[in-house]
Amino acid sequence: VENRVVLQLSRPITDYTVNSARMREDFEALSEIGATPDDGVDRVALSHQDWQARLWFADRVYDAHLMQADDDAANLSGVLRCRQPDARTLLVGSHLDSVPNGGRFDGAIGIVAGLECLRTLREHDLQLPFHLELINFTDDEGTWHSLFGARAVAGMLPPDVTSEARIENAAFSAALARVGLRLRDVVSARRDPASLAGYLELHIEHGTRLERAGISIGVVTDIVGRTTYDIVFHGAAGHSGTTDMYKRRDALRGAAQFITRAHDLVRARYGDGIFNCGDVAVEPGKYNIIPSKAALTIELRHVSESLMSDMEMAMIQIARECAAVHGLTVDVKPVIHMPAAAMSPAFIQTIESCCDTLDLSHMRLVSYAGHAAQVLSQITPCAMIFVPSTGGVGHAPAEFTPWEDIEAGANALLHTILALAAAE
Ligand SMILES: [Zn+2]
Repeated sequence: VENRVVLQLSRPITDYTVNSARMREDFEALSEIGATPDDGVDRVALSHQDWQARLWFADRVYDAHLMQADDDAANLSGVLRCRQPDARTLLVGSHLDSVPNGGRFDGAIGIVAGLECLRTLREHDLQLPFHLELINFTDDEGTWHSLFGARAVAGMLPPDVTSEARIENAAFSAALARVGLRLRDVVSARRDPASLAGYLELHIEHGTRLERAGISIGVVTDIVGRTTYDIVFHGAAGHSGTTDMYKRRDALRGAAQFITRAHDLVRARYGDGIFNCGDVAVEPGKYNIIPSKAALTIELRHVSESLMSDMEMAMIQIARECAAVHGLTVDVKPVIHMPAAAMSPAFIQTIESCCDTLDLSHMRLVSYAGHAAQVLSQITPCAMIFVPSTGGVGHAPAEFTPWEDIEAGANALLHTILALAAAE
């Protein structure tokens, strides 16, 4: 194509850096929106605070002379347009929403760093061979539906999420209606994969691996897969005092044994696997009645899809054994399956060589938390840059990342964009 844009730098590559002070002002201003007394933020998706953050974001996009864009899933973007209209789009993103009583850094640093990258590139008047779009994904934290905005873009929202006929969706539908969106239209937020050049995100680690290693940049290789199951043990209620101890069909006893055995098995046989059971409902739920029903929700995570399915089979087997031993029946129902996602090997190498150029220490990591890249990797090459979380705290007001690390992460992001532009 004759009009193809080719990146041309007028200065040595290391001269291109973000304006750390300006980015910090943005971060401080954003931290005020939905601020809680203990230095956290509360910006639950589609809440008043979330909308305030979006208005703030839209103003910054306007001030930076970027183009504003949104879609039918309420994703909100600032775009640095390529002068070649049919060019592909490189997405850079994160999220402005938080968990209830969350931290200031999760999601927010990806947005302010992305904004700073777009501003810096625009100020240098660099012509990129792709549209560069900074996107704020709706409900990344799953207040309504986990990774909602990213799944809409990937065209991966199951019909039960977007059906207006389902009574369970009424409140979500109303929340979207307040901003002029209709649940049934969300599917049109899907992007054509051919229109995308990739997705990049800067995020906090939510763990202690970087801090312990004294390294400022984590290059994510994979995001773990995650499966949840509803497991219900059925026994028989009875008088707690008069029923023979050896003839009880105690549903909670079966459930308790299952939980303990599941933990032991994952530790013994699946070293990198995760098991969690944080939700147990017992019926009738009285101290003097033998439990007739124990309903659990369990979660499994693993970076390998094949070991994940091994682990799932093993859980089902244990549940059946625990039921049999205690004269119970058990129902096992899979609920959510998010497959493990591999990041783009080419993007991983690009980030690493940019870190070398910038003299930033880096290491490869697996992400044990879910992120937009997990779903977007199904339609476009993805990569994530992690920065340290002090003490590994995440999803809490005490969340903290030293500013030097955020600045380093933003520069790694900027240079990755430049390197991808040079390679396009
Ligand atoms: Zn996040």
